[in-house]
Amino acid sequence: MAWETYACINDTCKGRPWCVQRDEVIPDLWYVAPPAGWQSFTIAAAEPICPLCGSSLVAVLEFEEHAHVVKRKA
Ligand SMILES: [Zn+2]
Repeated sequence: MAWETYACINDTCKGRPWCVQRDEVIPDLWYVAPPAGWQSFTIAAAEPICPLCGSSLVAVLEFEEHAHVVKRKA
């Protein structure tokens, strides 16, 4: 299993990155950890969510697309 990089695009977190890993056995169980930390949060949901604000996390590729949109708006 590998950690994948996701980001929280909620206004509170402003693109805060998270490392996300899906449980190999249990469906809808995710481990979400801060990139520089040791302790991961266990999230039971259909998709990974931000442990801080509860928003859906997006894969970084999607996040970059979103960031372009935000930049255009600003
Ligand atoms: Zn968040």
